Amino acid sequence: MLKGKTALVTGSTSGIGLGIAEALAARGANIVLNGLGDRAEVERLRARIADQHRVAVRYDAADMSRPDAIRAMVESSIAALGAIDVLVNNAGIQFVAPVEDFPVEKWDAILAINLSAAFHTTRLALPRMKANGWGRIVNIASAHALVASPYKSAYVAAKHGIAGFTKAIALEVAEQGITVNAICPGYVWTPLVERQIPDTAKARGITEEQVKRDVLLAAQPTRKFVTVAEVAELAAFLAGERAASLTGAILPLDGGWTAH
Ligand code: NAD
Repeated sequence: MLKGKTALVTGSTSGIGLGIAEALAARGANIVLNGLGDRAEVERLRARIADQHRVAVRYDAADMSRPDAIRAMVESSIAALGAIDVLVNNAGIQFVAPVEDFPVEKWDAILAINLSAAFHTTRLALPRMKANGWGRIVNIASAHALVASPYKSAYVAAKHGIAGFTKAIALEVAEQGITVNAICPGYVWTPLVERQIPDTAKARGITEEQVKRDVLLAAQPTRKFVTVAEVAELAAFLAGERAASLTGAILPLDGGWTAH
């Protein structure tokens, strides 16, 4: 149980992050939601999670590509809820194009949101975790932290980066009751995956159906999408007491993809 603890889940207005926020709330954690989205819809989401799980839920719209906004979010979360005990670095974006056509601003945005944002949240949340002698950092990486696919150079670079970052920080804080791990999901059916299908079809010169069958699910020996609930369950386990000795791990959750 995480009763009395506070969890900040970046990019939790949709997909995997929302699933993780719900799983942590179900275990009693107070939650800071973050991410893009229509204000009224996000407010409905915030109120529903708070009512359903009887926990405090805040929302902060910080743009994860902006270090100043990240600082303000971490500081106001700690001021309002006492600490960030569980930090889930999940916000992420994708863009698919051959490297010579890759828009420079997309490269910069992917590196900022998928990699540098975790550096900023981590460095800002750690002092309070150290003072409390307890903390959990869960980085949502990807199978693309372990293997590559063509046309995803920025994403693969950022995700390999987050795996290295995870291990380095795990070593830095290992004696202070703080664990740092990365979950590496294979393909999970979320808006992020849905959105990349037309561009992947274009880059490879195949149909969208072929992308699903021959590119996405072909990578996964189970031939099934990983579910948000499966990722959320592993994140909740990592956030709990029983995972105290599990640190510095880069954990595939990919239907066997990286066993190839
Ligand atoms: P999603 O698009 O459903 O959710 C992404 C979340 O990040 C949303 O809440 C969005 O608002 C938020 N976000 C995007 N840009 C932001 C910004 N600038 N500032 C703040 N928030 C921002 O995607 P998802 O599939 O749930 O992805 C979540 C994480 O899981 C990402 O890091 C992604 O790389 C990773 N992942 C996804 C898959 C998959 O197959 N879906 C597989 C492996 C890893």
